[in-house]
Formats: sequence, C-alpha cells, structure tokens
Amino acid sequence: MNVDLNRAYDSFFGPPSDRIPIREFLDKSRSLPTLSAQDILSHAGWRRLSEDERRAIEAECSGGVSEVKATIEDAWNNPILSAHLYRAHDAALVAVQGQAGSAQRGRKRKHASSTSEESDAPPEVRALQEKLDAISLRCWGFSSESALFMRTSKNSDFNALRAIQKSGQGSLPPNAYDSHHVSTPDQGPSSRPTAQVPTVALITLTIYNRVPWVQSYLVRHSQHAVLSSQTLLDFVRAIPCDSSDMPAEQVDEEGNVIGYTYEGGNEGQAAEEGCLLLIDDVVYGDGRPGVDYADKLLLHLQHLPEEKRPKVTKSPTSLGETVFDTLTLRVNQPYWMLHQGNCEHFIVVDQIRLSHPADLPSGYPLTLHVTPTLSELCRACSKVPAVLAILGDIRLGESPCLVCAPCWRNMGPPRKTDDEDEDEVTVVPLPRKKRVLTDGEVW
Ligand SMILES: [Zn+2]
Ligand SMILES: [Zn+2]
Repeated sequence: MNVDLNRAYDSFFGPPSDRIPIREFLDKSRSLPTLSAQDILSHAGWRRLSEDERRAIEAECSGGVSEVKATIEDAWNNPILSAHLYRAHDAALVAVQGQAGSAQRGRKRKHASSTSEESDAPPEVRALQEKLDAISLRCWGFSSESALFMRTSKNSDFNALRAIQKSGQGSLPPNAYDSHHVSTPDQGPSSRPTAQVPTVALITLTIYNRVPWVQSYLVRHSQHAVLSSQTLLDFVRAIPCDSSDMPAEQVDEEGNVIGYTYEGGNEGQAAEEGCLLLIDDVVYGDGRPGVDYADKLLLHLQHLPEEKRPKVTKSPTSLGETVFDTLTLRVNQPYWMLHQGNCEHFIVVDQIRLSHPADLPSGYPLTLHVTPTLSELCRACSKVPAVLAILGDIRLGESPCLVCAPCWRNMGPPRKTDDEDEDEVTVVPLPRKKRVLTDGEVW
C-alpha cells in the first residue's frame, strides 16, 4: 500500500506536482481578469493599428480557422484521400522503425511496394501529396529518435464508451462558465457584475488497477471528471468495478447459500460494504460506526513495527462528508483506494481546471473513459464470453467452470457427484457488465 517513492509507479505517472489547495485555486482564479472581446477592441495596441491592418487581422481570424478546418474535413471525408494519408503515415512509421533497426524485413518490403504505388495514384491524391510536400513547416516529421516513443496499442488505449457517460447528479452552477459576459463600451471594468466568477473547478481523475500477474504494474481502468463541489463518495460511486457489482447471496432458512442473484439491486453498496481513500497520509473512511475502514486501517498499521509504521492520520470527515473543495491535491500522485474487502485501486489526478462553456452542464461525475473488459471465453465452446460459473457439476472438468448460457442450456439438467456430503450444483451468474452506454446499450 505504500505508494510513495515507488520508482515503478514514478515512471508510470511522472513526477507529482506541488500540493494544490482546491479552494485557494478557485479564490486566486477569481482575481484573474476576465477578458472579453470588448477589452481587446479597446486595447491600446489594437487602437494603434490602421483600418486596413485591422481588417486584415479580422479576415485572417475569421476566414483562416474555418478554411483550415474545411480543408482537413474535405480530405478526411474523402475515402481515397484518407486511405492515402493512412498509408503514408504507416509507411513513415515503418521507415522510422527501419532506421532504428527494429523493422522486420516483411515490413520493409511493404514500404517499398507502397512507394511504387504513388506513380499511378489518382490525380486527387497526387494533388494532395504535392500540397503536403509544399508545406515548409518540417517539425511535424518523424525523426529516427521518434522510434523511442513508439509502441503498439494496448487494450487500455481503447475506450469502451462511445460518448461521455453521466454517472451522477452533479450540475455546474449556472454562473460557473458565465465569466465572458457582454459588457457594453460605456461600462467601465468596475461596473462588472462580481457574481459571475468561477465557483467550481473540474477535476479529472484516472483509476488504475494492478495487473493480476505483475503486481507492481498498473493499468488504466477508467477516467472521470468530478466537480469540486462534490464529495469523495460521489466520485467513488462512479467508479465501475466488478467488486461493487457482485451478485447477492440467496440463503435458505438455515443460513445455507442456495444461489446468487442480482435482483433487488445493489444501490449504495459501495458505502455499505466499506471503502477508504488515502490522500497524502490522511485516510478518509466510509463513516460506518464501529466498522469504518479508516479505523480498521489504523488498527492494522499498529501491528507494524514502530519504525516501519507510516504516519497516517484519520480525517475527521468521512468520504460522504468530504468535498473536493476542501482538499489539497497533487497532480500525477497516485492515491490509494481500498473497498469491498480487498479491492484496490490507484487514483491519479490528471487535471484541475476551471469550467468551460463547452463542458456538459449536468450529470457529474462524468465517465470519460472505460477500458474494454476482456471477458473469459466459455470453457466448452471457446467461442463466446462466459456468463456463468458452475460449481460442483461432475460433467465439467473443473469447479468452478466458466460457460456461456447456450452451452449450459444444451447440457441439460445439472448432475452432482454421487458423494452425499457434496453440495448441490450451484450456478453463479458472473458480474453483469452494468456499464451501460449512454444510448442504453449494454456491453
Ligand atoms: Zn474495486
Ligand atoms: Zn459456450
């Protein structure tokens, strides 16, 4: 659990920033001048320009950006041109890797054949290439050193979400991004309404999980955006985790487990089952009287020899009572989270910023990224992901055995071993992927 000064993690996240008190950040940003278009028009530098110069700048600003955008969109919307750009990009990468000595022979041949294609390319492709070649800006090219920064894509690079997902009830206050208000020329800066100042910060956090087979290696799991006016519990509840998604046990009158079900839901289970968050040696517990995870952690640390004992203190406020505003956070510093018994996550602050008019107005915390789940395949057919774990069926070679629903149906009624002492066959549904996409589709 000691996440400080671990070199493996350091190379993973980069050096941590200084401590940033969120409330102080907001207070300081309030004193920053909020520039409007009017401020620029009344600026001495602009007034010094001649009428022609002003018109030229205006034309460059208004036409220039939309022209660049239109040129790029035209190229990417044309399948012949976009295919050419992809090929040219791949060829450039292969050439760089070839220079770095890591390219394979087959790849080199592919590169050679792709360059020979250029002579009989359609005229529109040739026109685009000539245009690209004519660009005098050379810093975009790949040098041989670029190979040091290249790797193949990982599963965590992909996003299972097609759109930003709303995972809570938090809303931006109506004046949060209203600082670019209209001020008329006869109004002086002092007459501006002072209420229109940033009152909330947006904090982007990434969740990392340990890789089961290399415990020191972490992999990105999901990314969220919370408002600084929300609590740590609001954030914790937004984290998609199989441990919070386990089926409930069904017990008979004698207390024996007879099955598992998802019926009845598990709303608020994260809080019920216990959770703690360790931020810069201050531990925030779930606030359950007597069984608070923070108390349990402190008790556990007492077992360590005094010189090895980390100086952890318990926060007087629980996760549900601690608002991000009151925290002092460091960017790029992994914070440790433990919940649901022994489920660990590492939380890294990526960004602390003011809100922007383009931000979604409600639904915070937002889920920005979820790494696609790699499901175990059915042991019987090895074709589709397993959805059931079967315990104690004599026909299956192992217990538990993961199977898909059609395979289990086709096997007919369960068959237990002849041993009377053995339990009945139990069918446990695997954690449902409740990570519902914004359009309602379950994956
Ligand atoms: Zn978890
Ligand atoms: Zn199957």
